[in-house]
Amino acid sequence: MSELQVERSRITNPIDFDKNGRQAGYLRAPLSRDKSGWGVVEIPMISIKNGSGPTVLLTGGIHGDEYEGQIAISRLAQTLDPAKVQGRVIMIPAYNIPAVLNDSRLSPVDNRDMNRCFPGNPKGTFSEMLAHFLDGYVLPQADVSVDLHTAGHSFDSAPSTNMHYLPDAGMRQKTMAAAAAFGAPFNVVFWGVDEGATFTSCVERRGAISLGTELGGWGRVSVEGVRIGRRGVDNILKHFGVIEGEVDTVQRHGAAGTRQMMVRDLGAYAFSPASALFEPTNVVGEAVRAGDPAGWLHFIEDVDHAPLEVSYPRDGVLWMSAGPGRVTRGDPVAVVMSDYDDAVAAG
Ligand SMILES: [Zn+2]
Repeated sequence: MSELQVERSRITNPIDFDKNGRQAGYLRAPLSRDKSGWGVVEIPMISIKNGSGPTVLLTGGIHGDEYEGQIAISRLAQTLDPAKVQGRVIMIPAYNIPAVLNDSRLSPVDNRDMNRCFPGNPKGTFSEMLAHFLDGYVLPQADVSVDLHTAGHSFDSAPSTNMHYLPDAGMRQKTMAAAAAFGAPFNVVFWGVDEGATFTSCVERRGAISLGTELGGWGRVSVEGVRIGRRGVDNILKHFGVIEGEVDTVQRHGAAGTRQMMVRDLGAYAFSPASALFEPTNVVGEAVRAGDPAGWLHFIEDVDHAPLEVSYPRDGVLWMSAGPGRVTRGDPVAVVMSDYDDAVAAG
């Protein structure tokens, strides 16, 4: 889609996406504040273009408290040799920079989750303006998008890529192959709880290949998540022929390859029925069984209140696990993934 069809953004972009070589600069997003009515927020962006080949867009920091993707993209942006690129790599390590600098999921500017603001609005709130620019001006350049996330403060996650179930079999196969090339231990085909306003949904609407990641969480930097993330972005560039080399998908314990999984419906989630302190039973990546305890809710403030057991909703592998920490009634405390089955998925 041409930029002419997009409503004009208030964000300025110093980078010419058609220019060869390495360009690094700052998007400037206007943010009027008490002591600077004409102030801007600067968002780092790096574009490397050479020869002919596909465009890979790498985004991190759409949620500010998710670090592994920010690290992986920053590392790549510092080290990628333009002479070795065939195609184009657009790298935005920390797109939602107000949330990144505030170390929070929601933007401190407008208290919005930017990944629920797509396709955005150039005259809307700050997060809506950011979402609109990414969808309208950056995404049309991309053949492949990898948006790097972790589970933030919500969960820990088994290091994984993820994608929506795509009804088009060709796109589904291409996306699953890209996920296998990324080389996380798991790829999760899922049907989101709250989709439509997410970045992934925008990438799909524009016909590009869309991969997400969940590389850790709990508000810390996962050593294994960083390893998988850094290797994954290299693997993606190799898989699409943007750089030379063989993909490396050997896992930490020696197994090769990515296990294809799915989270088909809300039946994969265990929600907390009360506000309490959650004690989990398993760590992410472990096999679990329906009916076994996912953990216990402790009512620490009440001397005589026995802990309440929360059970796993189905057999599978633990994808996401809350806490240990306080949870609120309605928070998911465990998400269980099942082995991918194309017939079941289509059903
Ligand atoms: Zn996220």
